[in-house]
Amino acid sequence: MYTAVYIACDPRIEKGCVPMSFDKEGATFSPEALKEKYRLEREKRLRPDGNRQYLELRGVFADFDEDPYVEPGFSREAITEETDVLIVGGGFGGMLAAVRLRQAGVDRFRIVEKGGDFGGTWYWNRYPGAACDVESYIYLPLLEETGYMPTEKYAKAPEIFAHCQRIGRQFDLYKAALFQTQVEGMAWDEDANRWIVTTSRGDRLAARFVIIAGGVLHKAKLPGIPGIETFKGHCFHTSRWDYAYTGGSPGGRLSRLADKRVGIIGTGATAVQAIPHLGASAKQLYVFQRTPSGIGARNNRPTDEAWVKTLQPGWQRERIDNFTAIVSGQTLEVDLVGDGWTYIFQGDEMKRATTPEEAAELRQLVDYRKMEEIRERVDQIVEDPATAEALKPYYNQLCKRPCFHDEYLDTFNRPNVQLVDTDGKGVERITPTGVVVQGKEYEVDCLIYASGFDVGSEYTHRLGFDILGCGGKSLRDSWADGASTFHGMHSRGYPNLLMISTTQSGWAINLVHVLDALSEHSAYVIARCLEQGIVKIEPTEEAQQQWWEVILGHLKKQATFGGTECTPGYYNNEGVSAGPSAIRRAAFGGGTLEFIEILRTWRNDGSFAGLDVTLEGKPSSP
Ligand code: NDP
Repeated sequence: MYTAVYIACDPRIEKGCVPMSFDKEGATFSPEALKEKYRLEREKRLRPDGNRQYLELRGVFADFDEDPYVEPGFSREAITEETDVLIVGGGFGGMLAAVRLRQAGVDRFRIVEKGGDFGGTWYWNRYPGAACDVESYIYLPLLEETGYMPTEKYAKAPEIFAHCQRIGRQFDLYKAALFQTQVEGMAWDEDANRWIVTTSRGDRLAARFVIIAGGVLHKAKLPGIPGIETFKGHCFHTSRWDYAYTGGSPGGRLSRLADKRVGIIGTGATAVQAIPHLGASAKQLYVFQRTPSGIGARNNRPTDEAWVKTLQPGWQRERIDNFTAIVSGQTLEVDLVGDGWTYIFQGDEMKRATTPEEAAELRQLVDYRKMEEIRERVDQIVEDPATAEALKPYYNQLCKRPCFHDEYLDTFNRPNVQLVDTDGKGVERITPTGVVVQGKEYEVDCLIYASGFDVGSEYTHRLGFDILGCGGKSLRDSWADGASTFHGMHSRGYPNLLMISTTQSGWAINLVHVLDALSEHSAYVIARCLEQGIVKIEPTEEAQQQWWEVILGHLKKQATFGGTECTPGYYNNEGVSAGPSAIRRAAFGGGTLEFIEILRTWRNDGSFAGLDVTLEGKPSSP
């Protein structure tokens, strides 16, 4: 017999965490019954088409991708120029890459960005209620460098977008930016050792190095529901919010919906933030749900000025590291952030286990217990028992992105809001006038797709352009059977290209942590090359193979918990067992801090181990 111990915290109460323990027999739930319930709920949702169920925003759906935030009709002269570094993407990743380059003494760079300003995710996602779900003091980059302190623990989208603009101004990035411009192709010029990058504005940009920071969740997708193209009412994707139609602003008050019947498809992290505003504004709101999200307490609050005064230089780095360590499973004395995220990972249950099997069982028990708390919270808030039951998630905590919100569940107590649960099947059909679920049509004037982003396709597909490397070989072809990289950043045959992505690279709950680490690393590599007359770098075959062994080693260890038993979603390839090429898209599974340490150790070594290096004036050298 062994005992599961976990820390129960009410984040509203300072130091409100108490150790709780229970053993298998003493639990208030039946682990066997929950295991079976989770299995049945997963079975309902599995579908053979996996990622193929989604539609891209092109062809008849191309209008969904139009930028609603710029004046139409922008044009400019095409540019032909040469630069040291071309950065693809002006979101957090691209901006951090630019800032770290400047700090490393590299000032000749260009940033090519599809949107009309900096911001990336925070440029596109302006839906009502949008806010960061990781604490703003660790999520907003460069707070100490810019001297800015967010106004709330979880800042709202306009404040985050304004911070992106602040970074742009402070680090003089605007003069380097080409907005409303998309890269259409890039090809390696072997004689000149330059990338030749072409764009949708007719530009021809020659660059010694290219950093691709194209974003992780940047390509919106639509659900492939039969009849979707026939809908005659108004419709849009959440990442292109149409305020001209809804009225209001990211703060809500969507006044033009007062006489409208609105439907929203999807109940992921985006919908959870938008639905309270839609419920407050629409005449009638139908929420079409396939899988409920788990909704923990948010407890947002204004920034405490007294706390700000106590902060010492280096505080942000310390706080970021502290959070990442805790959500990577480390037990630390101090939890600086102390929120719903760190609560998920709290508990020293592993210490009580004597074998790996016991550890896995204990971990599962604690997971059941914590998800029971999430389900109990639904009962406490939602008045209608049938609605409450439908809103309860039956899967492990990290099968889907955990959500935190203090008004989402209450919204279902409004008389004008109806949850239309599809019992895991999804919407059956869309007609010219509405949405059909289990044979019943719900007529709507406006249909909003909160259906997320393409994560499941190949990196080369999501980029939206091809990369022709040595010998004109396309990266799509080279990676047809899966990605090959060194550190997830370099790929053989594609010299002087640095990729900031999650493919064989770092991953973190606070993704900005990894983006910054990769940016710093890119800046180091490029600055060293420029200083030392290195005209070409590319990884060796051997280094790529060794890196893949590292990724694979971690993947094998991970397979024991959750993944294959999870409800389908973008975290687990929609529940479809991943083919060889999808497996090679995996991120480094050894933990964020370990990944960052690997990069740091490599830099400290200073020998560019694993890279073939060509010096100026020499055909090649080690
Ligand atoms: P998700 O992919 O998480 O959600 C898509 C939703 O659409 C799901 O609820 C899905 O159901 C539903 N859906 C898809 N097809 C159908 C269908 N045929 N019928 C009915 N429903 C359907 O996208 P989000 O935009 O919500 O979130 C994406 C990610 O963006 C998050 O996981 C998070 O990482 C990030 N994010 C971060 C925020 C932040 O604050 N930092 C805020 C918002 C998003 P099912 O679950 O069954 O697949």
